[in-house]
Amino acid sequence: MAKLFIPGPIDVSKETFAAMSQTMIGHRGAEFEALYASTQPGLQALIGTSRPVFLSTSSAWGVMEAALKNLCQKKVLNLCCGAFSDKWNGVAKSMGLDQDKIQVEWGEAIDPAAVKAKLEEGGYDLVTLVHNETSTGVMNDLEGIARVVKSFEGVQLVVDTVSSLSVVPIEMDKLGIDVVLAGVQKALALPPGMAVFACSLDAIKRAETQPNRGYYFDLLEFEKAAPKNNTPSTPSISIIFGLQYILGEIEKEGLEARFARHAANNQMIHDWGAKHGFDNFAPEGRQSKSLTCFKTPEGFDQSTFIKHLKTDHGYAINGGYGKIKGLTFRISNMGNETQETMQELIDAMDQVLNTHTARS
Ligand SMILES: *Cc1c(COP(=O)(O)O)cnc(C)c1O
Repeated sequence: MAKLFIPGPIDVSKETFAAMSQTMIGHRGAEFEALYASTQPGLQALIGTSRPVFLSTSSAWGVMEAALKNLCQKKVLNLCCGAFSDKWNGVAKSMGLDQDKIQVEWGEAIDPAAVKAKLEEGGYDLVTLVHNETSTGVMNDLEGIARVVKSFEGVQLVVDTVSSLSVVPIEMDKLGIDVVLAGVQKALALPPGMAVFACSLDAIKRAETQPNRGYYFDLLEFEKAAPKNNTPSTPSISIIFGLQYILGEIEKEGLEARFARHAANNQMIHDWGAKHGFDNFAPEGRQSKSLTCFKTPEGFDQSTFIKHLKTDHGYAINGGYGKIKGLTFRISNMGNETQETMQELIDAMDQVLNTHTARS
């Protein structure tokens, strides 16, 4: 099996798997409460909040849908700039919500001024933003957009940080974000199956006035369970053991060092691309630090490149997502990668370029 350098799921370390294979415990008892409690300070630091961080046994989409269901009472504005952000609008439509979107070309970032102009039309009470659009490698201006949304009374902001949490600082409380969510299989380098999220008190207050919230994704159920260091229903306990381990590793490394490591690893891939004439799909200044999305140059046999990287060297990268499949390729630098492991990937890619394609 190839080592994953696709932008999620990513490589999971042996140490993480070992932590996950601890003896099973019941989730209604002191052992689980201690486990749950141990995850809170680390998650709160990553998300930049003093609010509890909830653990949802679902992928990120569960929480993305939950945010719409619990918080949209009037009309949601979806900020669309790629596969995941576009789909959030599709999900809002499928739920029968009153919705509108700002749609920019894939590869572009959302302009805070456009958000301001749209919200000035009135009638909105919710905005969704994908911070790091994993399909295009664009990192949106979270601070600028949050500032705009916060200037509109009664409009709440939900932010998907699925592929940016633990890669760059997220300041939920400082920016006044109402929901921050992330799946654990991206930058946190855990197996898929769980999401983490935090809700502002304003979000909780709004949910209290929202009918028909259901049970599994009811924000109030999570809010009620959190002070007891518990989850509404049986969680993925093994993944939480893994999360506890990873958060310990993050604490040892230090947040600043972790952010710097990701930036440096990302730069290595940018430099490699520049050397071979691969242009970034995302514009300068708005490029992701967790992955790189390259435009596939005219005449470059991308599928042969990706195939030989996998069969000859055991590394998996991604050949583009959604409607830019084949036109782009993506390389992740999330999780536990080091300068050494990134260099191993780069050496392998260079060998494949030399052996199997016209580029050198
Ligand atoms: C991967 C990803 C998702 C979807 O996550 P699931 O775990 O499949 O629910 C959502 N948003 C972004 C930005 C992603 O990268």
